[in-house]
Amino acid sequence: MAGRTTFAMVKPDAFEAGKAGRILAHIEQSGYAILAMRLVRLTRVEAEAFYEVHRGRPFYQELVSFMSSGRAVALVLDKADAVAAWRATIGATDPAEAAEGTIRKLFAESKGRNAVHGSDSDENAVREVAFFFPERELARLGAESPG
Ligand code: UDP
Ligand code: MG
Repeated sequence: MAGRTTFAMVKPDAFEAGKAGRILAHIEQSGYAILAMRLVRLTRVEAEAFYEVHRGRPFYQELVSFMSSGRAVALVLDKADAVAAWRATIGATDPAEAAEGTIRKLFAESKGRNAVHGSDSDENAVREVAFFFPERELARLGAESPG
């Protein structure tokens, strides 16, 4: 059964451009509860690990450089069928292909610098939440750890 939790990020392009506030407003207005949130700055090694599944792809090194280039916002979001809902809210990877009204259509610069991240499965949501948020912090926030 699909879970109520997903992992999201406001990526460095959007944070640097001062779009984080509008993206967070969009998240709230779209009916998500923010369970946890942190301003983060990934090291290269952390970005490599976070995107391990893409290692070897032609865009991997550029992706790792980009994701470790500046501040980002890590988020745990709650909504019914959260993973699929959030993927629909953010839109296609390439903003040129993203539907009207999606976050990537509204805020992304390009296929690489595309404003936001979203988990692609419940299993990866569990892994990605744990990557950024220790169990104790989630418990203190009243956020049940997914899975
Ligand atoms: N990416 C890229 N070029 C590509 C595909 C992906 O730069 O051709 C970057 C982009 O930032 C994307 C991330 O790598 O968000 C992860 O790719 P994925 O296919 O998982 O897209 P997503 O799940 O983020 O839509
Ligand atoms: Mg993905």
